[in-house]
Amino acid sequence: MINKKSHGKSFHTTHCTDLDPLLSLCHHHKFKLLKEGVDSYNHKSTSSHPPIHPYLSLPPSLTSHLNTYPLKTVYSDKHKLEHSSFVACCQSLMMYSIFSPRCSTGPEKWYHANKDCEGRAQSPINIVHRKTLPDERLTPFQFRKYQDSFSGLIKNNGHSLQVNVPHQPYVIGGDLETPYKVVQFHLHWGKNGGPGSEHTIDGEQYPMELHIVHMNQEYSTLEDALKDPRGVAVLGFFYEESLSANRKYDPVVRALQRIMTTGANTTLISVSLEQLIPPQQNLTNYYRYKGSLTTPGCTESVIWTVFEKPIPLSRDQLRVFSDLQFKDGKPMVGTFRPVQPLNGRVVYRSGGAGVLASTVILMASVTMAMGLSQPN
Ligand SMILES: [Zn+2]
Repeated sequence: MINKKSHGKSFHTTHCTDLDPLLSLCHHHKFKLLKEGVDSYNHKSTSSHPPIHPYLSLPPSLTSHLNTYPLKTVYSDKHKLEHSSFVACCQSLMMYSIFSPRCSTGPEKWYHANKDCEGRAQSPINIVHRKTLPDERLTPFQFRKYQDSFSGLIKNNGHSLQVNVPHQPYVIGGDLETPYKVVQFHLHWGKNGGPGSEHTIDGEQYPMELHIVHMNQEYSTLEDALKDPRGVAVLGFFYEESLSANRKYDPVVRALQRIMTTGANTTLISVSLEQLIPPQQNLTNYYRYKGSLTTPGCTESVIWTVFEKPIPLSRDQLRVFSDLQFKDGKPMVGTFRPVQPLNGRVVYRSGGAGVLASTVILMASVTMAMGLSQPN
């Protein structure tokens, strides 16, 4: 019943926003579909398709089927009601297991949702500084049009807050072979300002992490860029708790009050990316490795840059992110994926020969200044 209906098309969950319609559908039909679907499946289960239990993980054969089943068919074709309710049930199961904080199968089980999530180059990772290798090609970034103000949609998408950025700002340098333009940014956080970053440095987890998602300028959609192993570049910034409030974050913090519930959105007016990140001169130290999206489908097309210098926010500012709500009304907290195995990957760090070069320049200018100051 299962395999012959697969059309061989790919069901790519390339970005979590793609899952929103599915999430609402699952939310509405969850219990009905769960029972109907699981009963129906278990009734016909065979040794190759062993019975499943609601809220438990799905067998791999079923997962791979779901990954190739065209999603639209599932919901549009009434003749496949039994099958579609079954698939919907499984989807809702997966989504439930992925996004519900009450469920025992958290992000560590995401490979059930998409086989890419069990790949060998997953993100985030713990960065062990003494094991990183200096790389002189990791020059400082140039942040172009980061200072331009824009108005963008800020949305509670059910698992984070995301801001879509018009595609004008871009970065060059940092050993990226072409300019990479900004697509969106979003955040990962903990509970009430507690540990919440995705990447960790020497095991230390920061309270929050900003991801500015860029794509290679030759692409016009993130979906296309994700098909290229070097299509996407994410700049990651940590946050640290500061004594005073960071006034540059006032527009974001104010907007949060209007997007408490899942699906809510508002316009973030007149912000620049520059105001959200540390000053450029503090961004020369960073780590680089090849990894993945940290949400399903966990696509391994991301050139990761994780900056050393954190963004300061006060305790109150950090706390307010925990006021957002998941779809089920529970506080949106702990929105980070646990660190993933390195599997032999090397993490590089900037400031290899660059430090030496700038020291030489500094010495040269000191010598020159001294030379100039000497009377002839
Ligand atoms: Zn992220």
